[in-house]
Amino acid sequence: MDAADYADCRLCPRACGADRRAGQHGVCGEGAECRVAHTGLHFGEEPPLSGTRGSGTIFFSGCSSRCFFCQNHQISVEGIGDTVSPEALYHRARQLLDAGAHNLNFVTPDHFWPHAEALARRLRAEGCDAPLVFNGSGYHAPALLRRAAPWIDIFLPDVKFADGALAREAMGDANYPEIALAALDAMIEARGFLEPWDPSGRTPARQGVLVRHLVLPGEVPNSLRALERLREAFGPYLPLSVMSQFRPTPGCVRRGRFTRPVSAGEYTAVREHVRALGFRNVFIQGAPEADAPYLPDFARAVPFAAHAQDRATDTSSPEAFPSSSRPSSSRSTTTATTAVDDGTHRRRNP
Ligand code: SF4
Repeated sequence: MDAADYADCRLCPRACGADRRAGQHGVCGEGAECRVAHTGLHFGEEPPLSGTRGSGTIFFSGCSSRCFFCQNHQISVEGIGDTVSPEALYHRARQLLDAGAHNLNFVTPDHFWPHAEALARRLRAEGCDAPLVFNGSGYHAPALLRRAAPWIDIFLPDVKFADGALAREAMGDANYPEIALAALDAMIEARGFLEPWDPSGRTPARQGVLVRHLVLPGEVPNSLRALERLREAFGPYLPLSVMSQFRPTPGCVRRGRFTRPVSAGEYTAVREHVRALGFRNVFIQGAPEADAPYLPDFARAVPFAAHAQDRATDTSSPEAFPSSSRPSSSRSTTTATTAVDDGTHRRRNP
């Protein structure tokens, strides 16, 4: 692992130049020692990721986006997690693979990419052929993606904002919409669209890109515009996951912003737009359920305890969480997904 990357750090688009080896922290809030909030088999990703045996999630502490409404706020904003050596990180990954994980799912790895890359190199050197997943916020530096692409099989980016003003309010960079589209273009160029495309999850995905969008309360126009931009840029076969599971977080309460779940009417409007735009490969969640416990609790050994199937790496205790690891800065969370698929799947805009 090249710790030099943590000096004058430019791993994410903030390019803040923090000398993390000297103890400085950038927006991501992290130093040069890798920290991990949770590792475990996750069954709440979209079916091609979770499959039948689960996705091997590694949740890195901190985040370079740090949206105030992050559904994983304990990790991204509050920074919970433990320091792990490269050797310990490797052993956690091996545990996940030995437990049957279909893939290794790096959740928000940008700011710890040197550690993630070293892990990928070691696993590949010993013959591991499990897909490696880059599960991110959509806010990625082009140089980092060029570096990650040779190691990564599946990209799972959010596209959160088409509205620059909303992006500035939420995470402090009005350039997010353009940065996210450029990042997505690079990911698709590297790995194409998600394949095989099996919405049932019986045949887990091996490579490609699946885009996530979390609908925010009161921000339907942002969602509609984001979908339009995706349709314009990448065509109707872009694999999409449109999520309704937003829940207010402590940061929302403090700001008095996004203090309610998405309404059924709002989500219906977004779903209708997905259909009107002709997207063919889409995971859609059910209507928002006011009482559904979507927010994970990373203070627990089993963060997704409200859901029946996830398992921590070091325990067989059941948890079920029909939610993705990073629901837009909730990093994945897909409940009751329904695939809309006409059986045709293409790599790029026809
Ligand atoms: S990863 Fe962190 S330290 Fe590095 S450029 Fe981004 S915010 Fe700054």
